[in-house]
Amino acid sequence: MPVPATLEFFIDPARCIGCQACVQACAECDTHRGQSMIQLDYVDRAHSTQTVPVVCMHCDSPTCAEVCPADAIKRTEDGVVHSARKPRCIACNNCVLACPFGVPKMNTEMQLMMKCNMCYDRTSVGLKPMCASVCPSQALAFGTREEMARLRPSARPVNTFQFGAQTITTKVNMMVPADDGPDWVDVTAAMHEPTIGHQMLDDIFDDDVFGGDGFIDLLNDDPADA
Ligand code: SF4
Ligand code: SF4
Repeated sequence: MPVPATLEFFIDPARCIGCQACVQACAECDTHRGQSMIQLDYVDRAHSTQTVPVVCMHCDSPTCAEVCPADAIKRTEDGVVHSARKPRCIACNNCVLACPFGVPKMNTEMQLMMKCNMCYDRTSVGLKPMCASVCPSQALAFGTREEMARLRPSARPVNTFQFGAQTITTKVNMMVPADDGPDWVDVTAAMHEPTIGHQMLDDIFDDDVFGGDGFIDLLNDDPADA
């Protein structure tokens, strides 16, 4: 059975509290063979405890499947991109290297690429994926667009991501501030933006004690000039 078209997956990274409940719950999914397929990344580990959950975005044109020489990764009509099929996967790691979101993981013991399949056994019958069913802050949410609009009036879903000249659209939505701004996430540009942690240090360093130099300026200083 396909995942009902009215039910969608929403990621709201700003709501993540780093509790790891999603990581633990993911391993409990019947189709995951005891493996967790979700990871928590630190946004700026040196300066902040803020984490962000990373799940498969279920791309409309999945790069992982395009680079797979063994045709082991299938995307079903409902837009879910499935984990590699055991008899086909040759453990070449192409998909691991190619995914722009850094999602697939190679299980070296099983010689098999494994990744989030949106808990297909659950979502295809209208149930929430394991992660969304336990996330206490609903950083991972599964439901209708109308529910999300009612619950998160100050946010809106976006499913277009810009990686340099490449545009990727996904089944999974990312929640961004509702006020104006583009209808896509410019991932490459965001990588060069100072994080909140850097910005706070910049404010602290930007006083007379440090000669008015901000933290970001200090970071960018050439040590040879010291
Ligand atoms: S996010 Fe990565 S693993 Fe998921 S469908 Fe897209 S390319 Fe494949
Ligand atoms: S590791 Fe497996 S799924 Fe990934 S590209 Fe190679 S054969 Fe395909």
